[in-house]
Amino acid sequence: MSVVSYPPKEHNIPTAGPGAAATVTAVQPLRTAALETQPAETAAEEAAARDGLAVRDLNAYYGNFRAVADVSITVPQRSVTAFIGPSGCGKSTLLRTLNRMHEVLPGATVSGSVRLGGVDLYGADVDPVAVRRHVGMVFQRANPFPSMSIAQNVLAGVRLNNRRGWRARADEVVETSLRAAGLWREVKDRLNEPGGSLSGGQQQRLCIARAIAVQPQVLLMDEPCSALDPVSTMAIEELIATLKKDYTIVIVTHNMQQALRVSDRTAFFNTQDTGEPGRLVEMGDTQQMFSSPTQQATADYIAGRFG
Ligand code: ADP
Repeated sequence: MSVVSYPPKEHNIPTAGPGAAATVTAVQPLRTAALETQPAETAAEEAAARDGLAVRDLNAYYGNFRAVADVSITVPQRSVTAFIGPSGCGKSTLLRTLNRMHEVLPGATVSGSVRLGGVDLYGADVDPVAVRRHVGMVFQRANPFPSMSIAQNVLAGVRLNNRRGWRARADEVVETSLRAAGLWREVKDRLNEPGGSLSGGQQQRLCIARAIAVQPQVLLMDEPCSALDPVSTMAIEELIATLKKDYTIVIVTHNMQQALRVSDRTAFFNTQDTGEPGRLVEMGDTQQMFSSPTQQATADYIAGRFG
């Protein structure tokens, strides 16, 4: 798929303001001036900084409470990265900073930077609505619009972004997105039935289709299988393996076996104590981290000794 870069002036990304999302049409080769000014420490980091997500010195607050402290990670393009760690260590909060969903809550703030394709998503003239189109999100509980048809659900985000020519391509977008979400065969003869008529697992795949329909670069998944039965979970896990050919995926999971099955890289987070912020303990190749973690806390968590 094509990739979209962000430099607001050079590549015509809209700044914040009414109707800004409606003008997000720039699809450009991925090369940015910002990249050149952000030399990375290692080859992997350099690649991630260029093409994927690069998080630097990130802190996330709810009012005065710091929930996430000093996180720096890179997420390579077209790979799956799992966030693991005990409940309350800031995984979901961190995930929501990656598409500027965190700041939607009153009093919630972020410091540090998140770069996608080398461009700071928190840059002064970057529109958060545009960011959310490029960095899609799937939640723990499938949240289709229950009375809206399956087809309309797929198109909901596209309609919101009002990209030029989408109406003429609506049928194609519905089919392509549902195929990519592994749902087309099951629903192609009932596209006009309500989204709420689908099973839980199908609804989650419908939400993935809705996220894909706007052609994001990154898909964030916050425990996407935690409300699903084992068969639906397997379908989503297989889907993740397919989707990573086109998308950069970050998944929060409590299920370590799932992290092991679906992810290429894993980041383990922990808190020192109640009320303390979550911090990154270590991050690395998933197989390696699970077989030979470098930190005792990681080994203890993976072994189920806490959390
Ligand atoms: P995890 O995803 O690892 O379970 P969270 O990101 O949900 O952790 O939470 C991290 C910390 O932030 C926890 O201490 C949690 O209580 C706090 N927190 C989460 N959401 C809010 C909120 N809306 N308001 C205030 N504190 C919150």
